[in-house]
Amino acid sequence: MSDLEKEGASACDDQCLEALRELYSFLDGELTEERRGAIRGHLDECGGCVEAFDFEVELRQVVSRCCRETEVPQDLRLRIAEAIESLGESDSQASDAI
Ligand SMILES: [Zn+2]
Repeated sequence: MSDLEKEGASACDDQCLEALRELYSFLDGELTEERRGAIRGHLDECGGCVEAFDFEVELRQVVSRCCRETEVPQDLRLRIAEAIESLGESDSQASDAI
């Protein structure tokens, strides 16, 4: 018997974490063009990260439309963080997440 093994799921593990870690800076326009280019490149190849980014972008648009000075609720930040963590552990849940 063997436990669930990682089947070398995708070529992006560290890259995912790195990209998602910079998500907020990216959206805030705090990154250099070089870093943004790297992240965009990663998003082209990684559906999981695209979902996370799209979700965050939409969230921000809704929030800023309602009231500009309100930060994204911590509740949602936590959910995003959880989604990011589960990305690192397995990629089978990613499509069920939302
Ligand atoms: Zn990724």
